Amino acid sequence: MGLKIGVLGLQGAFTEHVDAVRAAFQRRGVAGEVGTVRRREELASLDGLVMPGGESTTISKLLRKFDLHDLLVERATQEDFPILGTCAGMILLSREGDGQVEKTETRLLGLMDMAVNRNAFGRQRESFEAMLDLKGFDAPVPGVFIRAPAVIRTWGACEPLGTLYVAEAIPGIGHDPIVAARQGNRLGIAFHPELTGDTRVHERFVEMVDAWRRR
Ligand code: GLN
Repeated sequence: MGLKIGVLGLQGAFTEHVDAVRAAFQRRGVAGEVGTVRRREELASLDGLVMPGGESTTISKLLRKFDLHDLLVERATQEDFPILGTCAGMILLSREGDGQVEKTETRLLGLMDMAVNRNAFGRQRESFEAMLDLKGFDAPVPGVFIRAPAVIRTWGACEPLGTLYVAEAIPGIGHDPIVAARQGNRLGIAFHPELTGDTRVHERFVEMVDAWRRR
């Protein structure tokens, strides 16, 4: 049986991720199916989950409302279940948020040893694109940043995979923030890899899911 990857379809930009995972299956020559998921039974039967961008407070509320929060934490901590979190999804994977995360009572999943700033790039740079050198990728990856978060620091088993070059230090963030990280089978990406047609991030995730299934 092929791999089963779900894209969390509670809120945000999920349809593009479905297409990107499908393309990644094809490009890697891996048999698999992908669709949006919202229910516990669906989450329980997956080999991997993509948590899309959107609004982290809303997604966190819906994760609890749909009774998915604890199951996700359980599967990740007990089985090292693969999760790709992009943008808002990356915020939710983190262990520590910023003041805004606290104020909005966003409940993070705490699955990656890193602290994030939820809207790291401020108003004047709400969205932008940049080429990124990411560890394990042989050529720069295009990154679309939309009200994007950044990783302020990592510790423990969380490994930074790349930074964004910024000419001037960003207040409260500093120079060259981390924009991609990995911990076990969790991959946190600050940008939107589903919007560029470059499916290498999704291909990497498909490989992780494939390896996890063969474990
Ligand atoms: N900064 C947003 C948040 O706090 C995330 C933006 C995005 O996912 N495009 O949820």
